[in-house]
Amino acid sequence: MTQLPLRAQLASALGRTAATLSRATGRGDGSVIGGRVSLVLEPDLLRQLAHDRKLALVSATNGKTTTTRLITSALQELGEVATNAFGANMPAGHVSALSSAKDAPYGVLEVDEKYLPEVIDATGAGVICLMNLSRDQMDRAGEIWLLAQKWRRALAGKNTHVIANADDPLVTWGASTAASVTWVSAGQPWKEDSWCCPQCGGPLDRKGMEYVPPGSAGTGANPGTTENDWACRECTFRRPTPSWVLDDDAVIDPRGRRWVLDLKLPGRANRANAAIALATAEVFGLPVDRALPRLREVTSVAGRYTTVERDGRHARLLLAKNPAGWLEAFDVLDPSLPVILSVNAQGPDGRDTSWLWDVDYRVLRGRPVFVAGERRLDLALRLDVAGVPFQLAGSFGQALAAQPPGKVDVIANYTAFQNIRSEFGRAV
Ligand SMILES: [Zn+2]
Repeated sequence: MTQLPLRAQLASALGRTAATLSRATGRGDGSVIGGRVSLVLEPDLLRQLAHDRKLALVSATNGKTTTTRLITSALQELGEVATNAFGANMPAGHVSALSSAKDAPYGVLEVDEKYLPEVIDATGAGVICLMNLSRDQMDRAGEIWLLAQKWRRALAGKNTHVIANADDPLVTWGASTAASVTWVSAGQPWKEDSWCCPQCGGPLDRKGMEYVPPGSAGTGANPGTTENDWACRECTFRRPTPSWVLDDDAVIDPRGRRWVLDLKLPGRANRANAAIALATAEVFGLPVDRALPRLREVTSVAGRYTTVERDGRHARLLLAKNPAGWLEAFDVLDPSLPVILSVNAQGPDGRDTSWLWDVDYRVLRGRPVFVAGERRLDLALRLDVAGVPFQLAGSFGQALAAQPPGKVDVIANYTAFQNIRSEFGRAV
């Protein structure tokens, strides 16, 4: 790697010192404060640190952290990889990640979807992964449409290769100004934010598409499953033909070979993340037979899917921050187990809990459901209307103590999840 200019070296070194001090005084992992210090001293530092590296940026509403981790694990097969493993996904976190792995020839950076245009410009990243866009706690469909429009502007005219989920109409629209795109059929069960064509506002059709196995002689129809296909009824905007397809528990590569994923991470959403990761690894020259064993080694990501234990109760933690995330978390639940739901409404969660009404909870009927968290009454009302029996608990600890010894699943939103992790100590 070429040497950084002196000023950038200094900014980078002081940022790392600030991060170390912050860690030493128990204020988190220090990556954000360190990056901020560096950027004050050298605002151009992100561009300089990114220069000369092979970079992938990963953005989406859900699954960014996990997919970043999966791609990082795969690329470590090729060499050292700089990454923001702790989810510090804005420019200060990126500076910190690249600065702390100065000689890594590769970088995989999780990027907050709102910061993506700025980070594309600053880093000149050659590869960008776009997975899904849906309403977050505060956003509504109009805002994510504006976000996709910003992605389009940021990608237009750049020499960038995009790996995008063709099953998400808004992502497809956001990605389609890029010079080259690898389309992946990664699924998108959450459809409430894409009933309208982002191009013309017309209705999107998801019916009447015949299933065509990938690699078979062309009939003009898209390969992949019927449920994932879509097309605008009023303009030419439609699902592009994917070259990678997530097919239940396997991924079909562009040559038509079927690879059973067999991940340790649970659920459909993680298989979708893995499909994107495999397509990305191939862009970096890493074939599936070398990338997939690396993906299988990943067991948990930033505390997600880990288990905490107290008095013989083993609670598996699932993080769900928005309606689409809850849908994916329901898919992971063990139907034979009770479930504890915990909802807070602090800053990172969004103060407004009206999004709870966007989730269909009926899948929870028939198993013991416990409701905790500071906004448990909001969730309780929602469950009552959905006809899901539940018990209220004063706290997560009380809900856990009310379980028989054994396993229980937990779905929590952001600060509720972090509180459980810190209160119940080391994950086992
Ligand atoms: Zn249209």
